[in-house]
Amino acid sequence: MRGEARKTAAAAAAMLAMAALCAVACALFGGSDTADEAGVVMALPETVPPWRGTTFWFCQAEGCGRAFLDNSFDFGTPCPACGGELRQMNLPERRLLPADTEIVRRYYDTPQRFLPLNVSIVLSGADRSSIHRPEVCQTAAGHEIVRRRRIGVPLSWRPERPLEVTVLEMTRHGNAEAGVPPQHTFYAYWFVGANGRETASHWKRFWWMGTDRVFRGVSHRWAYVAVVGPRTPGDDNYLGLLSAFVSQLHRKILRPGTEAAPAADAP
Ligand SMILES: [Zn+2]
Repeated sequence: MRGEARKTAAAAAAMLAMAALCAVACALFGGSDTADEAGVVMALPETVPPWRGTTFWFCQAEGCGRAFLDNSFDFGTPCPACGGELRQMNLPERRLLPADTEIVRRYYDTPQRFLPLNVSIVLSGADRSSIHRPEVCQTAAGHEIVRRRRIGVPLSWRPERPLEVTVLEMTRHGNAEAGVPPQHTFYAYWFVGANGRETASHWKRFWWMGTDRVFRGVSHRWAYVAVVGPRTPGDDNYLGLLSAFVSQLHRKILRPGTEAAPAADAP
């Protein structure tokens, strides 16, 4: 188990760095509203068949900061290296984010390794004063967005309304002299609020944030769901796999009983 975790840790490292940066930027500048209602559960599933997820843990101790991929850990498990506290947000994120921000994060893979995925949910807490789109933090992290598209992910229990997901195709240019190859990735995201609110649009979320507060008296604790993985330039085949993953993940993270969530006996 630990040996496997070390291997997947290396494979996941690059994607994690990107996802972590965006988690910080989006939670800091995401314009989340006062925290009382959340539309998601803050727990990523262990399996999204055929993918299996492994949880990321980060040591919070100064001078250690090690990362672990391990499902046998839980909150309260000490860092195996130094005995420090482990969380699913890393130390820089914890320093930058308001204390009531929550992050869960898992790395998903299959035995065939056909599409490894790095998944995170950031749940915002208290009010933010400025707004930043996910696109902005990606480019700030050195990724060029080469294509931006919106896909509809079919949901078996809600065929009339697919889940809309924004997909950014990105390239981080390498450095031939230093032997660093270019990195081609995709970054897929959507937002979940309370009362069935769900959108792939930053601007629509912003609109709902304001109008729901003024006209409905509802304050959302918006969640930001991101799925990151590798892609091959010019090849769209990853979209089918991404769609298969998201169609399952979506219902597993919706809080039961909320307006967006499926009934227990839904297909
Ligand atoms: Zn440690």
